[in-house]
Amino acid sequence: TIDKYHPDVQTYEVRGEANEFVALFYADFFPRTGKRPGAWMTSFKPQYIQNGVNDRPHVSIVCNFTPPTPSKPSLLTFNEVTTLFHEFGHALHGMLANTTYPSLSGTSVYWDFVELPSQVMENWCYEPEALALFAHHYETGEVIPQNYVDKIKESASFMEGMATVRQLSFGLLDMAYHAQVPTIDDVKTFEVAATRETALYPDVAENCVSPAFSHIFQGGYSSGYYSYKWAEVLDADAFAYFQEKGIFNKEVGTQFKENILSKGGTALPMELYKKFRGQEPKPEALLKRAGLL
Ligand SMILES: [Zn+2]
Repeated sequence: TIDKYHPDVQTYEVRGEANEFVALFYADFFPRTGKRPGAWMTSFKPQYIQNGVNDRPHVSIVCNFTPPTPSKPSLLTFNEVTTLFHEFGHALHGMLANTTYPSLSGTSVYWDFVELPSQVMENWCYEPEALALFAHHYETGEVIPQNYVDKIKESASFMEGMATVRQLSFGLLDMAYHAQVPTIDDVKTFEVAATRETALYPDVAENCVSPAFSHIFQGGYSSGYYSYKWAEVLDADAFAYFQEKGIFNKEVGTQFKENILSKGGTALPMELYKKFRGQEPKPEALLKRAGLL
């Protein structure tokens, strides 16, 4: 048995194709008194190689999903499903790590690269082929009807133009603050100038985002806020490759594992990505998915 910190935690011994030990995986899915809200992946022990021995990692995902009741199993909302896939993507990054130094292992990568393995996983949640594997009605066993999936897909790009421009404006503002010797006489004037390219509506005099935008200085991003959008570029482009070859194509999956998931921070993200994809990422796949192309 595998020791765990709470009876609710489910534990798994993950093994590879040759039955070799890959990782310990812990899943802590449901809320309980005193548990922090939200969802995240964490690693109790990183992977590393020492004296020729590949020490395998202990990885955990923690979520707060809809719990089961005495009469019903846990029935996840669609958001909870994408969250599960997302966190499991981070977990794979940790579990499939294969590097020498723990400081470069698994999710120890540059900030704007860490969400690729997680976000790319979310794409499978919209694919009928993938849903057929698990999205069954809990009483009848019927697979989720395609028209439900279509509705989810259609609504996913609702207001996406606005959301995209808003996200870009935050990225631009964050970079503007960090990209120059501060010659800011007036925060409001600076902000308006920095976000001019993405302004959709006439300025409202009382409006000023900067004082409330904690990511700029206090949140640790410090010019890295763009990474949210950049990760979307990467995940959409990577998934387009899977779609091209088949979403369960083993060759592409292996390429993703060998060139990205197992490499951690041992090479620059662009080098790893090009090895996987054969080319640099392009924004077209994201624009298409967002309904903007
Ligand atoms: Zn994440």
